[in-house]
Amino acid sequence: MPERVESESRKLLGRLRDSLAESAAGQDRLDRIVTLIATSMQAEVCSIYLFRDEETLELCATEGLKPESVHQTRLKLGEGLVGRTAKSRQVINTGNAPSEKGFRYMPETGEERYSSFCGVPVQRLGQVMGVLVVQSKAAREITPDEVYALEVVAMVLAEMTELGAFVDEGASLQARHRQPVTFRGSSGQEGAVEGRVYLHEPRVVVTNPVSDDPEAEAARLKTAIDALKMSVDSLLEGATTMDAEQVQVLETYRMFANSKSWVARMEADVGSGLSAEAAVEKEQSLARSRMMASDDPYLRERLHDLDDLSNRLLRILTGQGKDTGVDLPENPVLVARNIGPGELLEYGKALKGIVLEEGSVGSHAAIVARAWAIPLIIHAEGITTEALNGDTILVDGDQGAAHLRPDDTLKSAFRDKIAMAAKAQEKYASLRDLPAETRDGVRIGLHMNAGLMADLPSLAGSGAEGVGLFRTELQFLIRNQMPQRGELSALYSRVMDNAKGRRVAFRTLDIGSDKVLSYMKRIEEPNPALGWRAIRVGLDKPGVLRMQLQALVRAAQGRPLTLMFPFITQLAEFRAAKAEMDKVLIREAILGHPLPEELEVGAMLETPSLAFAPDAFFEETDFVSIGGNDLKQFFFAADRENELVRRRYDTLDVSFLTLIEQIVKRCAQSNTALSFCGEDAGRPIEALCFAAMGLRTLSMRAPSVGPVKHLLRRVNLAEVRRVIDTARARGDLTVRPAVMDYLSKLD
Ligand code: PEP
Ligand code: MG
Repeated sequence: MPERVESESRKLLGRLRDSLAESAAGQDRLDRIVTLIATSMQAEVCSIYLFRDEETLELCATEGLKPESVHQTRLKLGEGLVGRTAKSRQVINTGNAPSEKGFRYMPETGEERYSSFCGVPVQRLGQVMGVLVVQSKAAREITPDEVYALEVVAMVLAEMTELGAFVDEGASLQARHRQPVTFRGSSGQEGAVEGRVYLHEPRVVVTNPVSDDPEAEAARLKTAIDALKMSVDSLLEGATTMDAEQVQVLETYRMFANSKSWVARMEADVGSGLSAEAAVEKEQSLARSRMMASDDPYLRERLHDLDDLSNRLLRILTGQGKDTGVDLPENPVLVARNIGPGELLEYGKALKGIVLEEGSVGSHAAIVARAWAIPLIIHAEGITTEALNGDTILVDGDQGAAHLRPDDTLKSAFRDKIAMAAKAQEKYASLRDLPAETRDGVRIGLHMNAGLMADLPSLAGSGAEGVGLFRTELQFLIRNQMPQRGELSALYSRVMDNAKGRRVAFRTLDIGSDKVLSYMKRIEEPNPALGWRAIRVGLDKPGVLRMQLQALVRAAQGRPLTLMFPFITQLAEFRAAKAEMDKVLIREAILGHPLPEELEVGAMLETPSLAFAPDAFFEETDFVSIGGNDLKQFFFAADRENELVRRRYDTLDVSFLTLIEQIVKRCAQSNTALSFCGEDAGRPIEALCFAAMGLRTLSMRAPSVGPVKHLLRRVNLAEVRRVIDTARARGDLTVRPAVMDYLSKLD
């Protein structure tokens, strides 16, 4: 950039800083800024339009247009050249505005006299907040250097808008981050809570967009970039045990951190008077708007990396971010882009709710949240940009919605909902020691699913009879290296101690598909859910399986032991897995370890093929546990992780219930114990229908035991079965409406 223009924009920023430093109310500030820009740029008109609401831009200050039009003239997003600038997030610079596509003449402003127009979006981190406009009579395009100066000013305006610097009391514009906003995502865990926002990675707030001393700022920027490079280098050095993908991300970080043009652009911005933080954020905003405009997944991914890198740099510069000493507020609701299970466990059960922009229902963070019964919302797009630490938030896990800064009416309706849920909980608690017995005397065994030590206290509180599924992979997933046998054995032993003699069905390691261990070499598979996972990995690379089986035997210390293998697809796999167990038992006996006094070895039925296995399978296995989450996804060929299809097929679809009925029959023929441990077991109506089809053991999340028991105790199971059979005979495609109708008539 030529020296002259650099000093022009520096001068402009210097004046702007002085003007902002003077105490003035919002409108006064805006008025001074437009006058200052018009004078400095020798233009007849300078105006600032800001968003009044998501769709409407309002003329908030002008030098040169009719003063009466301020706060009167409004434009829709995309309307006229101003609206187009906002919509496209691009500068529009023309010497002949009336001939431009979309030009709209607004007589109330008196703008017909101006032929040239330059509109610059006022944006911060990809979010457009308004438009800065310069117009003049002379038909001339503004030079690129002048546009640059305007962009720098627009950046400062964006920061000031963000900080609410232009909002007067009673102004027609509303301050940012003050209005109520509702985010609609998907439910990861039901439940309703009111709490306060705690940002996992708080947004860095730039309070000093303009610098006093560009030389000193340049030195700060350089020191921060050096620190950034060093931290990326040291991460890479320690990356030997990491998988290739992580290394690739870090390499990309290093590439950006060393990118001359990235650094040069920030240096130029600092040279023209921006603070180091504002210069980083200007680059970040640019990358975000490109990211939003791009359809190319590769480019989006790279720009995402750049965004993360900019955040790191901002944290270095401001000392804000993680470990900033902000304490958890009362009733904290964690708000984050995404979070891993390890990080979630660090927060512990103190959290009252979780709202994520990304995430998925089957992710392990979601499993942890569900195990703790913490309401969870995923896909709440945009919430990390809008929410501030400490904001009031209502988490509606049933509807998958988060209400940020709700108004009083919503708050009180929500509190009623919470009170009703608490009443229901009281009712369930009163049933805790009663059996899950239907009116016609059928007893259903209700067990709970677990995977963390933290789950075990729920065993006593929930009224569950035992642990029907202990997901051992969670212990592997929350670590960053392979756990040792001794460590696992001690843990399993504590689980059994806590269960106080009640049965715990340990499922051997179920990894692959969505459950990826960071310390195991990652294999690219076209369809991971149909790929090398669970028992397939265990049989092909038996080292970890054997280690785990040994840990289980040692943990039992002679006590009864129950274990099951995940994802058994055919008899041969079950036999091979059982043979591994037999070998372990022989070896443990030789080593002098006591063997379990009773041993049950079962299989999870998670693929339709196993329902059609030879009779020998049902005779050889001690029990079968239906993993309904996987079974359903394979039965309907609908990915359980894919929001587009995962709700498409009803569990109470006649075809799926008929499959369940078949499995019940086959187990009955060989007198093999059968249970169901997928998520559907915890849904009262589904649980009821499974019981009606003949299932006598269900395993579910601990908080579901109460609601399921409550419903089972109200019905006559033979009647429910008749309702289902009548619906099937009638040709209903799903039995849900018939069952709901029956339930609505219960007293
Ligand atoms: C299932 O598939 O139903 C199951 C219980 O296992 P997971 O959800 O861990 O895959
Ligand atoms: Mg499964």
